[in-house]
Amino acid sequence: MISTNFQHGIIIVGAGLAGLRAAVECAENTDVAIVSKVLPTRSHSGAAQGGVTAAIGNEEEDRWEWHMFDTVKGSDYLADQDAVEIMVRDAPRVIYELEHMGVPFSRNGDGRIAQRYFGGHTRDYGKKPVKRACHASDRTGRVVLDTLYDQCLRHKVKFYPEHYVLSLVHEDGRYVGVVTYDLSSGDINLLAAGALLLATGGCGRIFKTTSNGFASTGDGLNLAHMAGLPLMDMEFIQFHPTGLYPLGILVSEAARGEGGILRNSLGERFMERYAPTVKDLAARDVVSRAILTEVQQGRGFEGGYVHLDLTHLGEEKILEKLWEITSFVRIYLGIDPVHEPIPVYPTCHYIMGGIPTDTEGRVLRDESGTIAKGLYAAGECACVSVHGANRLGCNSLLDTLVFGRRAGLAMKEDIAKIEHHPISDEPLEKAKELIGSLFDNKGPEKIDIIRRNMQSLMMDHCSLFRSEDSLGTGLEEIRLLKKRLKNIEIVNKGRYFNYELMEAIELGHQLDLAEVMLLSAFRRQESRGAHFREDYPARDDNNFLKHTLIFPGREVRYKPVAVTRFRPEARVY
Ligand SMILES: Cc1cc2nc3c(=O)[nH]c(=O)nc-3n(C[C@H](O)[C@H](O)[C@H](O)COP(=O)(O)OP(=O)(O)OC[C@H]3O[C@@H](n4cnc5c(N)ncnc54)[C@H](O)[C@@H]3O)c2cc1C
Repeated sequence: MISTNFQHGIIIVGAGLAGLRAAVECAENTDVAIVSKVLPTRSHSGAAQGGVTAAIGNEEEDRWEWHMFDTVKGSDYLADQDAVEIMVRDAPRVIYELEHMGVPFSRNGDGRIAQRYFGGHTRDYGKKPVKRACHASDRTGRVVLDTLYDQCLRHKVKFYPEHYVLSLVHEDGRYVGVVTYDLSSGDINLLAAGALLLATGGCGRIFKTTSNGFASTGDGLNLAHMAGLPLMDMEFIQFHPTGLYPLGILVSEAARGEGGILRNSLGERFMERYAPTVKDLAARDVVSRAILTEVQQGRGFEGGYVHLDLTHLGEEKILEKLWEITSFVRIYLGIDPVHEPIPVYPTCHYIMGGIPTDTEGRVLRDESGTIAKGLYAAGECACVSVHGANRLGCNSLLDTLVFGRRAGLAMKEDIAKIEHHPISDEPLEKAKELIGSLFDNKGPEKIDIIRRNMQSLMMDHCSLFRSEDSLGTGLEEIRLLKKRLKNIEIVNKGRYFNYELMEAIELGHQLDLAEVMLLSAFRRQESRGAHFREDYPARDDNNFLKHTLIFPGREVRYKPVAVTRFRPEARVY
């Protein structure tokens, strides 16, 4: 096994929107490198369909204060309002900046950037829906990712594509590098840097039904945790209401934003009962629970789904605004949404929790805000927290772009102040030992079987409806799976593109995170946003208006929520 050491000014792990946007910010005068386990433009950000939020008011009056209110209300009042304010005030600038970089946004009749409805986006503090989502048809993530990638190439950012980060290097009180496994050669490298950014995305693959790509295994979250840092609010996992049944692939909320309607097996527009004001455009947690309630009460279709009806929109609008969705419904199910309703059910989509950071992307070691020197996080793996207990559609791309940029700025300033010094080879040796021991391991267990068990278990015990009994059983079972993982055997001992080896390491991360999610959910004895406890169905602000922090060793502590403009109220849509 060959190993080499490389030195850079800044290392960014992850080539999604958060990583690329951070790189663009600091690349001008700094040596920036991006490490990605997939080819950069295959990052999950490229799958985002619906859009990016900004109160630019191109279609009708809109204000950042309304955007802020919606985000805070959508979060069930758990978001830190100082961070939300920064994000929504910056949003219009983000959109124009993307436009100037070359993002081909869809246009309205007078040539301005078009906007559409999305769940939970309202005018005048909840009075009625507002068009706030800026989009490029239903391929928004794809075009933004490609544009930012172009910008990185223009700024001569160094890419390490298909390099898998195995560990973070911590020396003399500072995070100073990463150890990577080069999938194409099998080499292990030590990359040293003045500052590190984790922009490793989400972890939906822990669940059986998910909209997330294969790479969304949560590595960065657990790498930080293994390196001694807490994880915040990991009980809040978003299920998107409209996954394509039975595959879980996402049918963007844009479909309802453009006028699509959910119907049960009686043909009823059931959302009228659950959210009389905004109906199908209520927040995702509300719509997902409504779908499952319909199914549980016998008004779903056999197999457990409902219909998303677009047929009344007409072929022209469907093909112009929802082309991508239409094409994959035709390909995967042989159903034509122009003429027939689409079968949908909730699918695991997004993790609201993550690595705690301040608003400059600096990772926090504890509830009092101690900084983890040299380490930054942005995007879905980070928890600033702007989404609280439930994220609104199109606020995630905004989060990656606003806080990716801010992390880039902060890292640039940070590394100007420090001196580089060579780091020891010890982390490299440890990584080699890890891989060596995985190859030497002998046992009857199979990665695929343990992974499938974990995914089903998490659906059964930690998805839309939860209870103390079920979460407790889930915790015991996950701990058993962690023991079984010690008895796997890696059959492929090959050097090049050894995905079996990579998947074994990913599964270790997933099981650790599953345990953290179950534990956080077990301890939160209330219902808030995406976390619904059948045994505690009400929100309990007296005891739980606070962020959960799980430390390595599974110690549970809490941190207050920043409430600035909006006092918690009942959440009615
Ligand atoms: C189908 C779908 C549609 C969506 N639509 C929207 C939408 O319309 N609007 C919206 O706001 N949000 C949407 N979201 C959510 C949003 O797309 C994501 O939250 C966001 O793009 C995440 O970006 P990111 O930069 O944090 O990470 P990602 O884009 O997920 O990128 C993660 C990166 O980390 C790298 N990485 C991970 N682990 C390692 C490792 N161990 N070593 C090296 N590299 C590693 C990967 O290679 C990848 O480059 C959607 C999500 C999905 C799944």
